[in-house]
Amino acid sequence: QKPTVIITGASSGLGLAAARALGQSGDWHVVMACRDFSKAASAAAAAGIPKANRTIMHLDLASFDSVRQFVDNFRNSGRRLDVLVCNAAVYLPTAKEPTFTADGYELSVATNHLGHFLLTNLLLEDIQNAPADSLKRVIIVGSITGNTNTLAGNVPPKADLGDLRGLASGIDGRIAPMINGGDFDGAKAYKDSKVCNMLTVRELHRRLHDKTGITFSSLYPGCIAETGLFRNHIPLFRTLFPPFQKYITKGYVSEEEAGKRLAQVVYDPKLSKSGTYWSWSNDSESFENQVSEEVSDGAKGQKLWEISEKLVGLA
Ligand code: NDP
Repeated sequence: QKPTVIITGASSGLGLAAARALGQSGDWHVVMACRDFSKAASAAAAAGIPKANRTIMHLDLASFDSVRQFVDNFRNSGRRLDVLVCNAAVYLPTAKEPTFTADGYELSVATNHLGHFLLTNLLLEDIQNAPADSLKRVIIVGSITGNTNTLAGNVPPKADLGDLRGLASGIDGRIAPMINGGDFDGAKAYKDSKVCNMLTVRELHRRLHDKTGITFSSLYPGCIAETGLFRNHIPLFRTLFPPFQKYITKGYVSEEEAGKRLAQVVYDPKLSKSGTYWSWSNDSESFENQVSEEVSDGAKGQKLWEISEKLVGLA
């Protein structure tokens, strides 16, 4: 069997571009884990990912039941698992009111963080069981929001998990829209969820790298200003954001280039240092980036892990 990589949210944007890069290389079998099966099937066909190198499987990260069902289905497929890429995300910057999932959590944190947290924990065992030649990696897509050495990382509303009291209140079944217990802000909820993604990678590394030999990494592929992520933003933003990123911040990157960067974190032996947050210079050289103060807070990472374990039903 070829090495297998699971990519969540591979029906558009970065996930699709990475699935294409890996699926067309012929070295990988790509499991596209998507909430909309027919959208994923047309996207895969339009992107020219050979059928023999891909499988589409249903996964709705906004539902813990769906995550568990996906893991069962994947196991029943009999495939080996080498790399898990947690890529899917929703961004709801103009929402005035929070949306809650059936499990009772705010939609962006539930999808981007909690769903991936459960998925990763369940699939660690499968990655550990991969053959000896396996690269064994877990990658969670981060964001500049989690590093403060860029202008964009400092644009308000800034991410801030506070003491996680809002998230922790979910343990008693209470519904708090924001992790820090504050008032709902859709843009901040997304940024908070990306900080959770990056804290989770560091905590996975701390807890499990030595024990499992799995490489855990995060990345910021650049600003892919034209993806579906911005579909819920106001039209003026969607018109001005791509040229702003291209000509002013120069952080713009095409979907194709971003997909190659994510694919590189999947296969490149040079990018095997666990616990790393990868970024790329303008000439597309990868480098180890610095994370923000909040993301480097080990005690916060540990607390987030303990609360998340309870919320998803693992503890
Ligand atoms: P897209 O909106 O194009 O892709 C997001 C993907 O996530 C889609 O395939 C979407 O599915 C999927 N998704 C959303 N909700 C769920 C769910 N409940 N279950 C399963 N899949 C779901 O955005 P991008 O490609 O831009 O985003 C990909 C990643 O890149 C995200 O983690 C984002 O935070 C990150 N990122 C993006 C940047 C950018 O500039 N665009 C910059 C930095 C990081 P569907 O097609 O059905 O909607």
